[in-house]
Amino acid sequence: MTSDGVEASWSAPDSDPPAHRCGFELLPEDLDLGERYDDLDEWRGLWDTASCCREVWEDGRCRWHADAEPEVLREAVAERDERVQNLDGVVLRDVELDDGVSFAGCRLRGATFENVTAREADFADCDLSFAQFRDAYLSFAQFPDADLYEAQFPDADLYEAQFPNADLSFAQFPNADLQDAQFPNADLQDAQFPDADLQDAQFPTAYLSFAQFPDADLQDAQFPTAYLPGAQFPDAYLPGAQFPDADLRRAQFPDADLRRAQFPDANLSSAKFRDANLTRTQFRDANLTRTQFHGTDVRFSKFTNVELSKVKFIESKLLEKKIH
Ligand SMILES: [Zn+2]
Repeated sequence: MTSDGVEASWSAPDSDPPAHRCGFELLPEDLDLGERYDDLDEWRGLWDTASCCREVWEDGRCRWHADAEPEVLREAVAERDERVQNLDGVVLRDVELDDGVSFAGCRLRGATFENVTAREADFADCDLSFAQFRDAYLSFAQFPDADLYEAQFPDADLYEAQFPNADLSFAQFPNADLQDAQFPNADLQDAQFPDADLQDAQFPTAYLSFAQFPDADLQDAQFPTAYLPGAQFPDAYLPGAQFPDADLRRAQFPDADLRRAQFPDANLSSAKFRDANLTRTQFRDANLTRTQFHGTDVRFSKFTNVELSKVKFIESKLLEKKIH
């Protein structure tokens, strides 16, 4: 029988752990923050760290911190009670967890979930800042109100995952499968989605300033009333994507495929569509002040009720009769 409750498992960071106890403490270098925090007392005060008092499993660490074998980890997860726990810096690798496993409310800063299978997992209200989810299988997982600041999801399967109200600023999703994922009201400032599959993903009222989507597949993705100033979509695939009422000031879509995309009531002032494919794209009631369309294909596009006097269509393919 284990006892992984916060009180039983952690002690003050500057106290020596009892014999046969783990002693792991989350340190700046664990999060690549060594240059930002050279004063350990300041770090401990700001980050409220603690020293792990769980029993040693091997190499002086407990099961959670020893980079243990999958079957050991599976047992540790199965045996933990579901009280809110401090699981900072835990290392889970190559383990298959039960569908719907819950870590709700846990502190998981800098945790590793590499090649972990946790379909329908519940990460509600978790602090997962700086967590790593490389090659993780997390389809249908739930991350409501989670803190995922600078979390990384390379090659992760997040099909139909949900991130309502989550903080995903500076998070990275290279080559992740995010089909049908939902990000309502999420903070995705400076998040990066290179080569990600975001077909049918939804970003209602999400905060996406300076987010980057290079080579991402965003077919039929939806961004209603999303905040996207300075967002970048180089070479992105966006047929049928919808941006109603979105704020896209200074956004950039170089070489993007935006066929049949819709921008009703969107603010596209100073946005750039260099060499983009905009055939059959709709810009009804959009703000196109100083928007640049250099080298674009805008044949059969609709610019209904749009002030076009300041729009630049240099070297664009136009069908004049359709632009009015
Ligand atoms: Zn430990």
